[in-house]
Amino acid sequence: MKLRLFDTYTRSVRDFEPLKPGEVGMYTCGPTVYDYAHIGNLRTYIFEDILRRVLEFNGYRVDHVMNITDVGHLTSDADTGEDRMEKGSKRTGMTAWQIAELYTQEFQKDLARLNIKEPSVWCKATDHIQEQINVIQCIEEKGYTYRTSDGIYFDTSKLSDYGYLARLNIEGLQAGARVEVAEKRNPTDFALWKFSPLGEQRQMEWPSPWGTGFPGWHIECSAMSAKYLGEYFDIHCGGEDHIMVHHPNEIAQTQACYGTRLANFWMHGYFLQIDETRMGKSVGNFLRVQTLIEQGYDPMTWRFFCLGAHYRAKLNFTWESLDGAAKAFDRLRQTVYQWGDPSTLDEGYMDTFAEQVNDDLNMPRAIALVWDLVKSDLAPSVKKATILAFDEVLGLNLAGWQPPAAAVVPNEVMALVEQRQLARTEKRWKDADTLRGQIRDLGYEVEDTAQGARVQPRK
Ligand code: AMP
Ligand code: ZN
Repeated sequence: MKLRLFDTYTRSVRDFEPLKPGEVGMYTCGPTVYDYAHIGNLRTYIFEDILRRVLEFNGYRVDHVMNITDVGHLTSDADTGEDRMEKGSKRTGMTAWQIAELYTQEFQKDLARLNIKEPSVWCKATDHIQEQINVIQCIEEKGYTYRTSDGIYFDTSKLSDYGYLARLNIEGLQAGARVEVAEKRNPTDFALWKFSPLGEQRQMEWPSPWGTGFPGWHIECSAMSAKYLGEYFDIHCGGEDHIMVHHPNEIAQTQACYGTRLANFWMHGYFLQIDETRMGKSVGNFLRVQTLIEQGYDPMTWRFFCLGAHYRAKLNFTWESLDGAAKAFDRLRQTVYQWGDPSTLDEGYMDTFAEQVNDDLNMPRAIALVWDLVKSDLAPSVKKATILAFDEVLGLNLAGWQPPAAAVVPNEVMALVEQRQLARTEKRWKDADTLRGQIRDLGYEVEDTAQGARVQPRK
């Protein structure tokens, strides 16, 4: 079956055709590195990783670019408030540059813990200031900009279809007084370049043709995607919040400068919620992968949990459902391990799997197929080969997993176990019971099985 993907731009599931045969250019909006990533952010990166793996499963070579937003993202998406990096700097006492470095590394560590493939290109906004200035100049030359006291803005009224991605009702917005306008000509206008406040030196600022300052949040994505993937490429992704502001603004900039709508497919992952509210850094209800580890979970459980829901459905987090996922995932890993060495794939299962993942990444159905395979009466070696092929997409690292090594039992305990065995063969039951008590006192439990005595740490 052909790969079909939901495109937010057309609001439809469409056949995926790459622009260049055999190759896919994919850009994923990366983190703003002023704090740790939470498991909601990581749900979005897991969705993007699955998308990339499905493309590779279909034989495409994927050129994957991810940016690191280390300047310019203000506390409000409407270009007001403080720069998140400078705010993070005040919170932690480190410089903006230091926190960018720290949280970038922490983010990359989280990706590795979730077996998310690294992009082919990482690009930082602060390493591409000149590229951003060039795109702003291009937009200016085409006549889409104006100046206010605090920066250079994009005049969205000059584009006839501004906000099409979001299906924005521009007239409604103009009429309503809800959106902060200040010196902006239109409520939807946004900053391309912000000036450093008069008399204040920011930690991150650069000279530009318009004055010292820093780039707006959206321009980095238009500039860096064009640099690494070209002016029009295959797929652009992010979380659902980007449908309303960030992505329409990226499209506006690219349309003004290069005349394209940036990407052929626009794809968005839906939110992770907790108590039916969005998990967010600003909401203060967020959990990190590290939190899950501290609670005794294997981080890969988070990946397994996310695969249980379609990326276009909101997902609610509860500890009970995480426990359920942990148990199911453990059962799956144990089962797959016991299947031993792989032999040949089962073509029927492979075809069904391809159909499901190619149907707009239907991972819940692919996971149901995994359980169906587990229950099937195929030979264990065939099941093993088949599930390892599925795992190229699932990314659960089933091939590399081994049951935790049994705890080494101290000699002292083993000596008591042997004495107890002897007592049992000699039918000295009272002695055997006393020895069991001594073993227990040392923190171990002995159990008599058909294969002999089994010793385990006491639970
Ligand atoms: P940020 O670091 O805030 O720029 O966000 C990084 C990515 O996570 C973006 O693609 C956001 O759309 C996405 N995101 C933010 N909050 C959530 C959430 N609760 N669930 C899923 N994705 C989210
Ligand atoms: Zn972006």
